[in-house]
Amino acid sequence: MRIPLIAGNWKMNGSLALLEDFGNAFARTESLSKAIEIVIIPPFPYLANADEAFEGTLVQIGAQTLYSENSGAFTGEVSASMLKEFGVHFVLVGHSERRTLFSEDDAAVLARTRQALEAGITPVLCVGETLEERDAGRIDDIVLGQVAAVLDGLTEAERQKLVIAYEPVWAIGTGRTATPEQAQQVHAAIRARLRTYSESLADDMRLLYGGSMKPSNADELLAQPDIDGGLIGGASLKPEDFIAICHAAG
Ligand code: 13P
Repeated sequence: MRIPLIAGNWKMNGSLALLEDFGNAFARTESLSKAIEIVIIPPFPYLANADEAFEGTLVQIGAQTLYSENSGAFTGEVSASMLKEFGVHFVLVGHSERRTLFSEDDAAVLARTRQALEAGITPVLCVGETLEERDAGRIDDIVLGQVAAVLDGLTEAERQKLVIAYEPVWAIGTGRTATPEQAQQVHAAIRARLRTYSESLADDMRLLYGGSMKPSNADELLAQPDIDGGLIGGASLKPEDFIAICHAAG
């Protein structure tokens, strides 16, 4: 049984006022009809306030990135143990914006994944192809390559702790969502790849879809057999939209 997971990645957006709006909105939200996990992933400065704002609600806190070392002279970076002290339960690794804008390669993504696991934080490994890669017929090559680059470097027990988010780069922030069939096809390919490690890894790992997910398309995406939740950007900045997506999952 895979418990659906809905995560809102605020990216470099938000404010204390937005956090308060979200805290109030979730405090008013009636319980969902089935058990799901909900995560809000604000920028670093808001983590402490987020922990407080969501106290007593269903919402857990996530971070957008972390560094591959635990402490030291790495100006501007944040470590897994620091995130842990602020109540962080999930951390994104390998988001396409980190890969492209901040030059994080597969080795960097693996090192960050290891740091998160050591601190007891769940890594959400983000993978996805660009439009050029899709048009060149390289979806499996790119996406399964990104998955293997991290999973091959972990023990089976470590792999079991991961969540994977498939985010086609061409669907991020573009309003151009993958069709449910396109998303399902890649999710199924990822799950088949997981089966080469073990049956239980394939059966138990949660695979999230990300890329212009919103209330109007969440139902049909989440209805796909291999889509176990969503990683939401733009629509996670409005409480009513994000909560509507949570209701679609729960
Ligand atoms: P959008 O939902 O804005 O397309 O962003 C998706 C994303 O990158 C979440 O991590």
